[in-house]
Amino acid sequence: MEHADAKRKGLIPRLFIITLLYFLLGFVAIEFALLALACMSIPFMLLARYKQKVWCHRYCPRASLIQTFGKKCSRWRVLPPMFTDGYLRKVLLWYFGLNLLFIAGSTIRIATGDMAPMPYVRLFIAIPLWPLPQLLHIGSPDWLIHLSYRFYSMMLSSTILGVVAAMIWRPRAWCAVCPVGNLSNRLLRHHT
Ligand code: SF4
Repeated sequence: MEHADAKRKGLIPRLFIITLLYFLLGFVAIEFALLALACMSIPFMLLARYKQKVWCHRYCPRASLIQTFGKKCSRWRVLPPMFTDGYLRKVLLWYFGLNLLFIAGSTIRIATGDMAPMPYVRLFIAIPLWPLPQLLHIGSPDWLIHLSYRFYSMMLSSTILGVVAAMIWRPRAWCAVCPVGNLSNRLLRHHT
C-alpha cells in the first residue's frame, strides 16, 4: 500500500510553510481562514481511506511547525502526567467540541439577525484582539466574516498552545493531546 510506511518515512520536510501561509492569508482576506475546514476533514478522509494516521505521520503542517520550533530548544522539562494519562486529551476534546458548537451557533444567530458579528481575532474564546488588515475586500456577508474569524482564532489559539508545549516539554508534546490525533486514535480503535 502506498502509505503503508508513512510512519517510518516521517513528516514531509518544510510542511510548516503551509501553516505560516494559512495565517498570512488571513491578512489577504479573512475568508481564507475557512481553509481550516480542510485541515479538520482531510485527516479523517485519509484515515477512512488508509486505516492509519497517515496525516499525523506524514502530512500534518502543524506537527511540522511545532517540531521545527521544538527542535530549536534543547532543555525540555519532563512531560507532566496529564499529557499522557488522558486528562488533557479529554479537556481539549471538550474545549474544541464546545468551541465548534459555539462557532456554529453564533454564526447561525448572526445570519438570522439575532446577534452582532465579532469581526476580530479572539484567543482561547476569551481574549479579544483586533481585526486583521485586509488586502482584499471580498464583500462577504457578516456571518461569513464572523465564521472566518472564529476559525482563524481557533487555529491561532491551538497553534500557540502547540508551539509553547513544543518549546517547554518536547517538539511534539501537542500531538499527545491534539483533538484530531485523539479522535483518530478513537476511530482506529473502534474499527479494529
Ligand atoms: S496529533 Fe494533531 S498536531 Fe499532531 S500530527 Fe496529528 S493532527 Fe497534527
